[in-house]
Amino acid sequence: MFDYIVVGSGSGGSVIASRLSEDPAVKVCLLEAGGPDKSILIHAPIGVAAILPRKFFNWGFDTVPQKHLKGRKGYQPRGKTLGGSSSINAMLYVRGHKSDYDDWAALGNPGWSYDDVLPYFKKAENNERGADDYHGTGGPLNVADLRSGTPVSDVFTDAAMQVQLPTNMDFNGEEQEGVGPYQTTQKNGERWSAAKGYLTPNLNRPNLHVITNALATKLLMEGKKVVGLTYTQKGQTHDVKASKEVILCGGAFASPQLLLLSGIGPGEELAKHGIEVVHELPGVGANLQDHIDYVTAYKSSSRETMGISLGGGIDLMKGIMEWRKQRTGIITSPLAERGAFLKTDPSLDRPDIQLHFVIGPLDDHARKTHLGHGYSCHVCVLRPKSRGTVGLQSADPSAAPMIDPNFLAEQEDLDTLLKGFKVMQKVLDAPAFDHYRGKPLYEVDTSSDEAIIDALRSRSDTVYHPVGTCKMGTDPMAVVDPELKVHGIEGLRIADASIMPTLIGGNTNAPTVMIGEKGADMIKASAA
Ligand SMILES: Cc1cc2nc3c(=O)[nH]c(=O)nc-3n(C[C@H](O)[C@H](O)[C@H](O)COP(=O)(O)OP(=O)(O)OC[C@H]3O[C@@H](n4cnc5c(N)ncnc54)[C@H](O)[C@@H]3O)c2cc1C
Repeated sequence: MFDYIVVGSGSGGSVIASRLSEDPAVKVCLLEAGGPDKSILIHAPIGVAAILPRKFFNWGFDTVPQKHLKGRKGYQPRGKTLGGSSSINAMLYVRGHKSDYDDWAALGNPGWSYDDVLPYFKKAENNERGADDYHGTGGPLNVADLRSGTPVSDVFTDAAMQVQLPTNMDFNGEEQEGVGPYQTTQKNGERWSAAKGYLTPNLNRPNLHVITNALATKLLMEGKKVVGLTYTQKGQTHDVKASKEVILCGGAFASPQLLLLSGIGPGEELAKHGIEVVHELPGVGANLQDHIDYVTAYKSSSRETMGISLGGGIDLMKGIMEWRKQRTGIITSPLAERGAFLKTDPSLDRPDIQLHFVIGPLDDHARKTHLGHGYSCHVCVLRPKSRGTVGLQSADPSAAPMIDPNFLAEQEDLDTLLKGFKVMQKVLDAPAFDHYRGKPLYEVDTSSDEAIIDALRSRSDTVYHPVGTCKMGTDPMAVVDPELKVHGIEGLRIADASIMPTLIGGNTNAPTVMIGEKGADMIKASAA
């Protein structure tokens, strides 16, 4: 019997479990389906290249065939270890645009405007640049400038300046717009996941009980009150009880899946799988939003870019030695070293596309590899209008959820992606790249919209930011209220990326950590 059970140790769950167990009188159980986060592939930043395409520490889900992407199945990597997706992500520290949070508040979520959430971003943060109006120091989440000065990344910034794009040294400061370096969730040249910041230092707390390789399979209910849950570990089934609350932090796919498996969700979906309705909640699994993204990659004869070659292998070995000695160099690279938040139309009030410049030739989430060196650039639509769904493939809790991002269902998303592609191409065509540019991995006739759209439909996919499937709000499709309590159910909250009512204009790790920080304060306040 615990006071609180937290399901999932990712960006939301690590924060909740750590903050709630600060009070030694409060007993917290944290369940994580994955194992411990001991591997060097997690802690050496460049290890992301090995984890992304494979199923180590990664659920590696497939989507259903995407109607507007020529029937292709998309790929959805998600972290499966302590730290969740923060242990396998690209470590870019980005919060989104201020107005994203004002939008949340305007949608009926008092307490979630930018001014309300900024103190939580600052509380979480230890920014090595120091504290100012926008940044904090002393928090568990270390934020650092890059320690890998890959020259081709500077070429990207030079190219952007050649085509008159504004520069920005801090995407999380006064202004988001511009081209510049990403800051990263790293410390001393190592990944700084939510687990590393919030859990690892507190694992010796006697009141924090972390159970790994434990898959939560069903909530235990007394009427409409959650009193615990069932989980499986090494083929055995166990029950664990919570006297106060269960907090779901399984992420945008697993949190709605667990609600559905427990009979909370749209009746029609539950009936399809023979699950008895405990509480009809139509919004569970609806409202899936994700950043649709296209990558352009070029080959290059320059070893200043990354790639597979004898010389590249020698550079990597040297990099490993350097990292072992002083924690600097190529091994610390998040691969996406520079980026941009840009407007496809100057009359817009905020950027509507984001670029990620990558120092190697990227194809199909690194699932396809090519001999030789190169570089790539992603472009994604920051606030897509398309809405997808998460449902069940089966009532078996060990089956993957059914994921349908419904990418490019809305014409406006395709229009923005097309405009974004052209902005990106202008940068990649700038003279600064002349010395580096070889053949593109995929030839596209960039003078024809038709040809570009064909390429977009042939190769676009996620840039790993699914959210919104248990959205916060007070309308009939909302799953949690502005205090993150599940509507109509007692003793149950959700604190992960699934609660975002709308996708923010940026990467989603820091915003989810913020949700964890704010959620923990709300839970503590209701217990007081
Ligand atoms: C490849 C990749 C790159 C990314 N790059 C960036 C980036 O550079 N910057 C950025 O800001 N964001 C990035 N993101 C996104 C960001 O990491 C996520 O949005 C964020 O981590 C989501 O946090 P979460 O708490 O909602 O879920 P997660 O962090 O995914 O945590 C969910 C946890 O719950 C566990 N779990 C699931 N089901 C169960 C169950 N039934 N029982 C027990 N445990 C369960 C999972 O194993 C996992 O540990 C990236 C994501 C990926 C996958």
